Amino acid sequence: MGTEPKDVYNTFQIVQEQLADCVRILNLSEDIYNILRSPMREIHVSLPVKMDDGRIKVFHGFRVQYNNALGPTKGGIRFHPEETVDTVRALAAWMTWKCSLMGLPLGGGKGGVICNPKEMSEGEIERLSRMYIDRIYKYIGPEEDIPAPDVYTTPQIMAWMMDEYSKIAQKNQFGVITGKPLLLGGSLGRNDATARGGLYALREAATELGIDLGYATIAIQGYGNAGYYAAKLAKELFGSKIVAVSDSKGGIYNKDGIDPEEAQEHKMKKSSVVGLPGTKKITSEELLELDVDILIPAALENVITAKNAPDIKAKVVLELANGPTTPDADDILYKKGIHVIPDFLANAGGVTVSYFEMVQNFMMYYWSEEDVHSRLSDKMSHAYHSVLSAAKQYKVNMRQAAYVVAVSRVVEAMKMRGWM
Ligand code: NAD
Repeated sequence: MGTEPKDVYNTFQIVQEQLADCVRILNLSEDIYNILRSPMREIHVSLPVKMDDGRIKVFHGFRVQYNNALGPTKGGIRFHPEETVDTVRALAAWMTWKCSLMGLPLGGGKGGVICNPKEMSEGEIERLSRMYIDRIYKYIGPEEDIPAPDVYTTPQIMAWMMDEYSKIAQKNQFGVITGKPLLLGGSLGRNDATARGGLYALREAATELGIDLGYATIAIQGYGNAGYYAAKLAKELFGSKIVAVSDSKGGIYNKDGIDPEEAQEHKMKKSSVVGLPGTKKITSEELLELDVDILIPAALENVITAKNAPDIKAKVVLELANGPTTPDADDILYKKGIHVIPDFLANAGGVTVSYFEMVQNFMMYYWSEEDVHSRLSDKMSHAYHSVLSAAKQYKVNMRQAAYVVAVSRVVEAMKMRGWM
C-alpha cells in the first residue's frame, strides 16, 4: 500500500523524487522540473578490447552529462561489474547539485564502464581505458566535460586517459581529467580530500550542536578511500575515538577505540579489517545501529532505510557515500532529531580539490598542501552554513536545504542564459 519499507531502490528514481520535493519547496514550475529531471546528454559506447589471450571482448560504457548551465560538466568514471546507466544518471545529477552547492563554475556528469578490473590484467585495463577515451573524445575536454576517478579507477588510469586524449589532440591536455598522479599535473591534497572536506563540515555541525569532537565516538561503514581517511583524520584533527569500522567482509568494534593505521595495515595484509586483534566482530548492518555520536556511511547506496532508521542512535550522520539514505529513512531520521550532513555536501571535498587541480593545470602553477587544505576548509564551511541557513529559512531537513541552495543556482543560471 506504499507504506511498507521497500527492499529494492532505484537510485535514479530517488534522485527524481528528491528533485520533485525541492521543486515543491521552491514552488518552481513543472517546466523546470521537466528540464532538470533527465540528463542533458547521454553517450553509450561499445568498447572492443583485445584481451591477453588474443580474443576481443566488447565492453559497454556510458558518459552522462547531466546539466552544464553553470559550466563544463565534471564527474568521475566508475569501472564496475554491476554498473547501470541509471546509477550513472543518478550520480551525474548529484554532481550537478554538488558543484552548484560548492559554488564551483561547473556542471555535473558521470561515466561508467561495465567491467571487473579485479579480473583484468594491467594491460587489459590500459587498453580499455584508452578505448573509452577514443569513443568519447569528441564529447569531453577541459572546457566541455572533465572526468575523474571513482570506484575502481585510479590515478594511473587517469594518466592513461589523459595521455590518450593528448595524443588525439596532438598536444598535452592535462586539464582534461583530474585525479592524476602528481607528476602529471595532479594536486597535492587530492587523496584525502573527500574525507577531509566531510570532516570540515562535521566540525561546523559539531560547533552548532555543541558536540565536543575530542570526546566523540565514531562508527564508519566502508574502509576504502573515504572511510579510511575519515578515521585517520578524525583522530588526527579532533582526537575523536573510532569505535567501529567495516568493509565488504564485515565490521569490527572496540569500545576503547580502534587505531586507524592498525586497521588499515591489517586490511592491506588480510584484505579486510575483520580479525584485527583486540576487536569484536560485528556485521556492517549492526555497525549502523551502534550507540555512537557520529555515524559515517562511506561505502554504498541505500544502506539506511525505513527498516533500520528507527534504530539509528547517532546524533550526526555524515554521508561520505553517495546516496546512503533512502527518502523514507530521511523522514524518520529528521523526526528523531538526527542531524544528517547530506551526501552532496558531505563528500564535496573530492570534486572541490579536483576543481583546484584544474585551476592549477590552467595556471601551470602548483599550490602547497596547506594552501589546498585552507581553501578547502573555507569552501566547506561556507557551503555548510549556506545549507544550514536554508534549512532554518524553509524549515526543512538538511538534504532538502542542500537541494534548495543547489537547484536555485542552476535554475537562476538557466534563466539568465535564456533557456526558459
Ligand atoms: P573504495 O572503493 O575506495 O572503498 C569502498 C569501501 O567500501 C571498501 O572498503 C569496501 O570493502 C567497502 N564496502 C563494500 N561493500 C560494503 C558493505 N556491504 N559494508 C561495508 N563496507 C563495504 O570507494 P571510496 O572512494 O571510498 O567510495 C566510497 C563511497 O564514497 C562511494 O559511495 C563513493 O561514491 C563515495 N565518494 C567517494 C569519493 C572519493 O573521492 N573517493 C568522492 C565522493 C563520494
